[in-house]
Amino acid sequence: MPQKYFEIDDDSVDWIRPTEQWLNRAKGNVLCTECGSVLPGVGSIDVKLSKKPEPTPTLLIQPSIGAFDISLLETLGMDDVRAHVHLGKVINPDGSCNSQYATVLAREQIMFRGKADSNHHVCPHCGRLLYTSVRSRYIMNWTVASQAPIYGEESVSLLVCESIRDKIAAAWGKRLKLYKVPVAAKARDGLDDDLGLWPTPAQLKRYMPHVWAIKT
Ligand SMILES: [Zn+2]
Repeated sequence: MPQKYFEIDDDSVDWIRPTEQWLNRAKGNVLCTECGSVLPGVGSIDVKLSKKPEPTPTLLIQPSIGAFDISLLETLGMDDVRAHVHLGKVINPDGSCNSQYATVLAREQIMFRGKADSNHHVCPHCGRLLYTSVRSRYIMNWTVASQAPIYGEESVSLLVCESIRDKIAAAWGKRLKLYKVPVAAKARDGLDDDLGLWPTPAQLKRYMPHVWAIKT
């Protein structure tokens, strides 16, 4: 039986900015200068925050870095976390290490797909497929072929298998919601099934972007 996967939804997630100095240094080696995505090949990310975070289970450090409460990571199971997630330090504005949070960047990151009305294009700078699916989100079955217990929801959050879902629900059920992620064998957006976060040149020959509004 293939694993089932669940996304972790934190209504209270604190959106927080790194310091401008950190952001300027990160551009080009950790983050794409154009789209702000975490670049391929990046491992642990140590990030300095511009303000003290709210005590929420997860943080979204703009533009594209996720962080989890360390006791939440312990609930997931540190052996699985260390095997499948690059952990990094969260640095407070005063330069001290934040002992509550760690940044989380899964070794295997998955992009959600959607229907034909999804918005997507390829970043001209880093080549990442930037895909926004609003409704009827799903992941492609080949993206979970390794059947790992933990994957990344892109670079910002984690998807977990059913046994980890159960542990989170027992310990964090009042603060976090867990939603089953549909796994599809066939894409429903009119694009090739095998498109992922980093399409190959061969895949891009057949690819057509779909953009809701052109930036001016
Ligand atoms: Zn980019």
